[in-house]
Amino acid sequence: MAYTNTVLNRARARLTAENERKRAEYEDHLARAYALRPRLKEIDRSLRGTSARLAGLLLRHEGDPAAELAKLRAENEALQSERQWILDEAELPDGFLDDSPVCTLCGGTGYVGSRMCECLRELCRQEQKRELSALLPTGRERFDNFSLELYPDRFYPGLGDTARNLMQKNLHFCKKYAQDFQPGARSLLFSGATGLGKTFLSACVARQVAENGHSVVYVTAGKLFADFEAVKFERAEAESLRDYRDCELLIVDDLGTEMTTEFVKAALYEIVNTRLLEHRSTLISTNLNENDLEARYGGQIASRLLGGYRVVYFLGDDIRRMRK
Ligand SMILES: [Zn+2]
Repeated sequence: MAYTNTVLNRARARLTAENERKRAEYEDHLARAYALRPRLKEIDRSLRGTSARLAGLLLRHEGDPAAELAKLRAENEALQSERQWILDEAELPDGFLDDSPVCTLCGGTGYVGSRMCECLRELCRQEQKRELSALLPTGRERFDNFSLELYPDRFYPGLGDTARNLMQKNLHFCKKYAQDFQPGARSLLFSGATGLGKTFLSACVARQVAENGHSVVYVTAGKLFADFEAVKFERAEAESLRDYRDCELLIVDDLGTEMTTEFVKAALYEIVNTRLLEHRSTLISTNLNENDLEARYGGQIASRLLGGYRVVYFLGDDIRRMRK
């Protein structure tokens, strides 16, 4: 499971902070224990001394190592039990001088060999959730909150069905898509007029896919192109676009509402084409239909979108207008 750089960096920073906090707490406790029972400090110093002598002994290979070893071991044990006796007598709380790492599986590094440890993975999940919550429009975006009653139950001859039935199928499809999502899943194009719930449904997909532990980036088309422009005019590092390239699901909302310049077309082509070639899933929502897409962005982009993506049509009356 791959997390974006932004999420991974934040999770790592939290793990580092947690390590530092634990270390500082231990040092504070140790200083307090020494202040309370100065003999502890002497014992700890002696213990470090016996450990060093033990190591030296093992390297030297001369004299009678066995006898010396036994002597050192006895000294060590005596010191340890005196230490424990002092700690018990001082009635320090359990674990007061515990200096074990924040995670015993990885020692607080976040990795076991080359594999990400569960502790860092959990921090990534939390950071991904926080990141996405900040980006999603309302915070209500869950499939259960999607109301089909807002779609007209009347028959559309061109469709051969009612808008409500169509939306019911869309809802079912999107739910299943999000639940079963695996990296490389087919990309989607949500097409339909403004106010038909495209943004809402794409945000539901974002939330569910992220909750299943995949990296998801949600961005409006306006923000996406503004970020590309900032890199082009060197107001930002190229690195800042990395999440758009690397995430397992990129959701671009409201394509077609931006000022479409030649630069925008080139950026869109780059993102759509690169992600298709690298088998990374993308969900684009747009108020443009097939013909509008071609007219606005050119045949090359339109054919990538219509050929490489599964198109999901939205139909009905403007929900936002009806709610008012
Ligand atoms: Zn760990």
